[in-house]
Amino acid sequence: MPLQCSICLCTLKEPMCLPCGHIYCKNCLSDHVNVHTNPGMTSTCPDCRATFNLGIPDLTYLPTKYHKYIMSAARRVYIDNAEQSALEKRLEDAERRLESKKMGEEALLTRCEGLQKALFVHRTGEAKVQKILLKAQEKLHSDEVKHRETVAQLVAQIDRMEIDNIKLAMSCDELTAKAEDLEIRVQELQESAAD
Ligand SMILES: [Zn+2]
Ligand SMILES: [Zn+2]
Repeated sequence: MPLQCSICLCTLKEPMCLPCGHIYCKNCLSDHVNVHTNPGMTSTCPDCRATFNLGIPDLTYLPTKYHKYIMSAARRVYIDNAEQSALEKRLEDAERRLESKKMGEEALLTRCEGLQKALFVHRTGEAKVQKILLKAQEKLHSDEVKHRETVAQLVAQIDRMEIDNIKLAMSCDELTAKAEDLEIRVQELQESAAD
């Protein structure tokens, strides 16, 4: 920002510097002096109230070669605009860099959010896969249980059939024995009939 005059609040025009160091536009300072002239040809700085001389000494008896050393209290100053604009440019550059850094940060943030979303999707997928796996495991387990039950039933059935078989064999033996008995009796009857 260019240097400002504290009277008109504008950029300094033909800047004049007071002995106290405060700087004003030439016209602003003239207006101020016209209104605020103290006795003894002095005035005060609008900012710090420091007194400065308005009068120029009578140069009549002073050799001309010294006239250049007699100066008014308020002196024209020349502000180095090149340096100021260089500073302004540096400030602008810094602001631009800050802006681009912010944009970079925003881009990073956006990327981070994207990654978080991807991670979430991945986790959701993982959870689904785990659910399917769990279901499959449960089914396998229940199938195994059913299979075992079926095997047990089959074993029990076989056991029963074996028992039946044994019973049948036993009754068969009994029947054979009875048949033999009957044969013997038939033979005995035949023999007695022959007698
Ligand atoms: Zn001014
Ligand atoms: Zn001052």
